[in-house]
Amino acid sequence: MPEFQSKMRYKELVDVYEALTSTTKRLEKTAILAEFLKNTETEILPIVTLLSLGKVFPVWSEKEIGIGLKLLMKAISLVVGVSMDTVEDSVRDNGDIGFAAEALFANRYQSTLFTRPLTIVKVYKNMTKLAEISGKNAQTRKIRILIELLTSASPSEAKYISRTVVEELRVGIGEGTIKDAVSEAFNIEKEVVERALMLTNDPGLVAEVAKAEGEGGLKKLNLIPGKPVKPMLSQLSPGIESSVEEMGAAICETKYDGFRVQIHRRGDEIKVFTRRLDNIVKAVPEIVEYVQKCLPHEDLIVEGEIIATKDGNPISFQYILQRVRRKYEIERLRLEVPLIMYLFDVLYYKKPLIDTPFGERRQVLESIAKVEPSKFELSNQVIVTPENIEDAQKLFESSIKDGHEGIMIKDPLAPYMPGIRGKKMLKLKAEPETLDLVVVGGTYGRGRRANLIGSYLMAAQDEEGNLKTIAHTATGLDDATLLELSNKVESLMIEKKGRKVKARPEIILEIAYSEIVKSPEYESGYSLRFPVVKRIRDDKGIEDIDTVHRIESIFNARN
Ligand code: AMP
Repeated sequence: MPEFQSKMRYKELVDVYEALTSTTKRLEKTAILAEFLKNTETEILPIVTLLSLGKVFPVWSEKEIGIGLKLLMKAISLVVGVSMDTVEDSVRDNGDIGFAAEALFANRYQSTLFTRPLTIVKVYKNMTKLAEISGKNAQTRKIRILIELLTSASPSEAKYISRTVVEELRVGIGEGTIKDAVSEAFNIEKEVVERALMLTNDPGLVAEVAKAEGEGGLKKLNLIPGKPVKPMLSQLSPGIESSVEEMGAAICETKYDGFRVQIHRRGDEIKVFTRRLDNIVKAVPEIVEYVQKCLPHEDLIVEGEIIATKDGNPISFQYILQRVRRKYEIERLRLEVPLIMYLFDVLYYKKPLIDTPFGERRQVLESIAKVEPSKFELSNQVIVTPENIEDAQKLFESSIKDGHEGIMIKDPLAPYMPGIRGKKMLKLKAEPETLDLVVVGGTYGRGRRANLIGSYLMAAQDEEGNLKTIAHTATGLDDATLLELSNKVESLMIEKKGRKVKARPEIILEIAYSEIVKSPEYESGYSLRFPVVKRIRDDKGIEDIDTVHRIESIFNARN
């Protein structure tokens, strides 16, 4: 830790906390904070900025204070000289550890003559020490450090030390206020501050550079492998046609139902961050091995989805959570629940790439990643324009059939926008609930497929048990199953006109789809977007099929 010269009192920060709490107006909060940041020595500006957010370390830091409420209460009881019960009662009465500490400290007998006033550096240093303690007697050593701080604290200082320790500052400051305050304090465009925050995720560094080097300094800040960035987020697609139309040409990708990670490599060090910016590298040793084997030994940041498999098929998200949260027996679990990595973006390769259009980033990814099937792959993708929308539909169908969630629709011209939920990346998912519907007819294919029924007319039942058509579904089946289904429907045929047939309603199919829409085309008044056959339900009879009423209520719930 650097040797700090600053003697700035912790009380000054506490006064700011109190002032911030006294107003709910964002502009006033910004002004208070801006004034304080302006008057803080550059040396401790990073610390003060983090502390004003109620943090000691940036979000991506692996350091944690690691003090539970119980331990803090114990420290308070020892410093104030009251029983644990008294502290517990006070927390209950006040509804907050901060108010409780303040009240208890107000009644403390203390000879302030012999205590030195707390400085910001002292508070920060002790908090940092807390994070460094582990192993034997950790609790005892931690409590000693806390006691040292609290002994010198005034009631209001005790209030904010307590809240900082349990990471609940409650002064109503978020990153947005920090952005505005830094901009106001150092007279820098908000957008420049925002971008610097987005790229570094380090408000302390941003404030320091803003003060020391101004706008020019902030503009020079960029991604650094090893420091995670917030992931770019997606919106729901309002419909494939309009989304593709808006983008002109879109890159559609399989949407894997897994766990998003950002992999950073800097020199020999590899880190794997979750979307909440936690480094889970220890839990996923095979991903590290794949990165070593399949990506060049260069500084880089790539992003992708990890999925878990059993017998080669994707399995529930729960299993991945089991894997990534795991601290022990990782090697055993690794064999039981193998992981597959699907990369879908690159943010840094030798240099930052976030301003490079997505289409070009993908080319970089393809040029650097060596694919290992079923281990380390690139996301499956097709380029879709308004002229070949059916390719998006085919991708959707094959994605669902392979046990994935749906598709992503991405703008090839878009930069990477950390933390932004914009229109440049859209998702189209299958509804979580499938429908069981009965085959009432079908249509023969053309050409080579002329003797195979390729598309099936599906129906649901109304309240009286009458069948009402709702959709044609074409695919989702492998060739053998399609042949089996076609033969079955032929054997139930009651009418044939041209390529169209009607069949006795006996075969039940489980259908996944992206959306229910109103449609005059079908008897039910509804239709399914992107219907995909998940399986033939031999175990179900006509009385088990879904009702128009249920379809209506799913529609109403979504619209
Ligand atoms: P959601 O979590 O439902 O908002 O959907 C967006 C998420 O889908 C992303 O955060 C990723 O975790 C995940 N995802 C799966 N496959 C892809 C892909 N090919 N491209 C981008 N995100 C994907």
